Amino acid sequence: MTANGFPQRRQTTAVRIGSVTVGGGAPIVVQSMTNTDTADEVATAVQVADLARAGSEVVRITVNNEAAADAVPRIRDRLQAMGLDVPLVGDFHFNGHKLLRQNPACAEALAKYRINPGNVGRGAKRDVQFAEMIETACRYEKPVRIGVNWGSLDQDLLARMMDDNASSNSPAEPTRVMKEALIASALGSAERAEDLGLPHNRIIISCKLSGVQDLIAVYRQLADRCDYPLHLGLTEAGMGSKGIVASSAALAVLLQEGIGDTIRISLTPEPGGARTTEVIVAQELLQTMGLRAFTPMVAACPGCGRTTSTFFQELADDIQHYVRNRMPEWRKQHVGVEDMTLAVMGCVVNGPGESKHANIGISLPGTGERPVAPVYEDGEKTVTLKGERIAEEFRAIIENYVARTYPAPAGRRQTGPAD
Ligand code: SF4
Repeated sequence: MTANGFPQRRQTTAVRIGSVTVGGGAPIVVQSMTNTDTADEVATAVQVADLARAGSEVVRITVNNEAAADAVPRIRDRLQAMGLDVPLVGDFHFNGHKLLRQNPACAEALAKYRINPGNVGRGAKRDVQFAEMIETACRYEKPVRIGVNWGSLDQDLLARMMDDNASSNSPAEPTRVMKEALIASALGSAERAEDLGLPHNRIIISCKLSGVQDLIAVYRQLADRCDYPLHLGLTEAGMGSKGIVASSAALAVLLQEGIGDTIRISLTPEPGGARTTEVIVAQELLQTMGLRAFTPMVAACPGCGRTTSTFFQELADDIQHYVRNRMPEWRKQHVGVEDMTLAVMGCVVNGPGESKHANIGISLPGTGERPVAPVYEDGEKTVTLKGERIAEEFRAIIENYVARTYPAPAGRRQTGPAD
């Protein structure tokens, strides 16, 4: 823990994934994964672009067959044509060695290969196919993630470890052996990759499970036993609030202990739901923990019997969406704007107090209060809004605050409502 109460980050090697650095003290990187058919290069490029614009700094795509591998370079080209250089990670299972061998343009276009040691082949083929993937990574100077998942754990390794455990004088619980097998699979594969010539600083490790306590236990062990950067994620987290809560519970404990260099929130989207939700949740987790800032956060009270209409919820929602939509432009023009805090409060009980703690706050009238909404900027009441245009006027106040408070980057002329 540092003097100001923030977690002391675990010391790790720095790994470059295209233009992004993971580990070595770099800010914790937000990742995501597409769910389009990679062979559909237009749909995949569009979804990668959506994820990148939402804030995903690295995007993983499945490369599961010849058509997908063939599409990868064109997806890369389409993204470049859109002005996006987000690194693409290829997710390989079963046939990655062959796809990379037969599609050199795919091997070149990807910024990293994800290799699952449990899915590179069975028996004698396993070592040969793993070696071929690592040799490809060496040839193209790409990093790899050794990504173990308890749903596809190397069964030969697990069986050997279970047998050894059963014949020992004091056998451990099977679940403990399984966790040890996950770690052994990850670290043993990383060691083998280095023996094959992959530099130490081109390896990232993950060991994903779907149980919160299991994930925490495994990552604490990994953090103690290696200095590779760690990719955190609770696998099969689920849908909606369950997936968000489970992922946040597991990752927050580890992040608070300084463990984790890159994260993904593995949410199952609601039917028709936005894939970008997993990016927003990852950002909000890091931001609410004070580890990184991405977008101004809106504090809002939950509302209660003192709020007489839905206007208060609508305004809080409107402002959160407004600042998120404005961020791509603000980020280019106003240094530090992501640290701005906002408050939208429902009545006089906590409204003025909470509003004064934020950079900009508005306290709406509750039941029986005068129909006016005082606005506070940096703790001082600056104006009182009333009437039908409170939302528009509050947005204009935010724009003016941003324009006069957060400077333009060096060499860029500031524009906006203050002009
Ligand atoms: S600030 Fe007012 S409206 Fe909001 S929860 Fe508290 S008492 Fe209720």
